[in-house]
Amino acid sequence: MLDYLVVGLGLAGISFCEQLEKHGKSFQVINDNSQRASIVAGGLYNPVILKRFTMAWNARSQMDLAIPFYQELEKKLQTQLDYKLPVLRRFASVEEQNLWFDATDKPDLDYFLNTKIKENQNPHIEASLGYGEVQYTGRVDTKVLINKYQEYLLDKSSLLNESIDYAHLELKDECISYKDIQAKKIVFAEGYGLKQNPYFSYLPLNGTKGELLTIKAPELKEEAVIKSSVFIIPLGADLYRVGSTYKWKDKTNVPTDAAKNELLDKLNTFLKCDYEIVSHVAGVRPTVADRRPLVGEHPKYKSLYLLNGFGSRGVLIAPSASQNLYAYIENDEELDAEMNISRFTKKYYTP
Ligand SMILES: Cc1cc2nc3c(=O)[nH]c(=O)nc-3n(C[C@H](O)[C@H](O)[C@H](O)COP(=O)(O)OP(=O)(O)OC[C@H]3O[C@@H](n4cnc5c(N)ncnc54)[C@H](O)[C@@H]3O)c2cc1C
Repeated sequence: MLDYLVVGLGLAGISFCEQLEKHGKSFQVINDNSQRASIVAGGLYNPVILKRFTMAWNARSQMDLAIPFYQELEKKLQTQLDYKLPVLRRFASVEEQNLWFDATDKPDLDYFLNTKIKENQNPHIEASLGYGEVQYTGRVDTKVLINKYQEYLLDKSSLLNESIDYAHLELKDECISYKDIQAKKIVFAEGYGLKQNPYFSYLPLNGTKGELLTIKAPELKEEAVIKSSVFIIPLGADLYRVGSTYKWKDKTNVPTDAAKNELLDKLNTFLKCDYEIVSHVAGVRPTVADRRPLVGEHPKYKSLYLLNGFGSRGVLIAPSASQNLYAYIENDEELDAEMNISRFTKKYYTP
């Protein structure tokens, strides 16, 4: 009998496995490649919403947990994951500069936003009104993280590369069984794959498709993340990620010409050097109508748990949401009411 079965090995699944390892729990993971959000993500961690210059939900405390979390993973997997990079918000008008100054006085924002306007030094970028700088930000290489974590679990024979077949899941009084696996509890972390899960598909997970390009721009030589109508994220070796799009109808992982053209049109308004497109990827963000995660216990079956709904901020949210879910299950601690799926039981769940 295992302590846990975990379904899904994106940022949610990995961060929950880390809780299990930390507390010496036995577990097995089942994961397929049906969802791509964590693999294709830009990987940015940035606590500030750069459209409105406000703090993202709980971002300061999430950040306090996330930074050491990725540092620990770097040690464990013996690879660099966290690249510290400032984010430069390109100003499009004097009004935006004024809004930035107003924001730098506000609680928490005052810690992250540099009060001085940063002049543009890069001849290949058009940014005549300069930038606002967000400090203490960076990028987690989520693709490397996932690949390394998969290897780590395969080495321990703790990972099955397959799709869960929900029809084979049997719910018993105090445990679950799945084929020849018996576990006390099961945690679903399937990202947008939740839609196929008969136990939790009642929840209002919308899903927002996003596409990203990787470009090679040898002249650019930019070391900060530039945020304008799109992000430019430096990856090293003259490569930059450019993204991303937000689309609500198409829920596939298939890259489209329309998104590519949208990204290039936006990029070309401020990038003024030659570049070539190296790759183009797409994934579906697990977004929720009220922009809060979906975490908690099934309303009826007490061995079933959910860790999902990280939207476009999985890098920052995953470590703290996992810690909270683990403490809720094992130590009876309270689950943050804003992310508890119980907020939707009355409205959407039919017993
Ligand atoms: C284009 C794009 C850019 C992004 N940029 C950023 C960013 O810069 N910063 C940031 O913080 N976030 C970003 N995000 C959001 C971030 O990627 C998500 O919040 C996060 O990855 C969600 O993680 P997850 O583990 O919940 O889901 P996923 O990454 O989707 O992982 C779910 C896993 O479960 C598996 N699975 C699903 N169903 C089954 C099944 N039936 N059986 C077995 N396995 C199953 C899937 O294949 C997958 O491996 C971006 C997302 C996109 C699409």
